[in-house]
Amino acid sequence: MLRVQNFIPTQQVPTCAWCGKDITASGRGRPRKYCSQACRQRAYEQRNNVSGTAIPANAVILTPDRAEELRDSLFELRCAAEDVATAVSEGESPGEVSALCGELVELARKIEKLRS
Ligand SMILES: [Zn+2]
Repeated sequence: MLRVQNFIPTQQVPTCAWCGKDITASGRGRPRKYCSQACRQRAYEQRNNVSGTAIPANAVILTPDRAEELRDSLFELRCAAEDVATAVSEGESPGEVSALCGELVELARKIEKLRS
């Protein structure tokens, strides 16, 4: 049997406004915006550095290398999605499809961390 419960969309977990990592719930109080003091500091520095320019204070600024890496990762993600589609259309076993879906989810999770 395909264990579909693994692939029920997970609830949107709050993520760091700087690096995109999941933020573990801190319980009471205002939800945190950053996962760490370091991320808070980097966001603060960027706000200062771009003030007076046309760059939005909260812009996600990527180096060309990092942007290239992300593009590569997205290509990998598309290939993984195509693998799932192919497996389903070829009638692969639920276990096989399930494993491919697991890889797909894992890849997507990595890509969510934009700046890390
Ligand atoms: Zn962070």
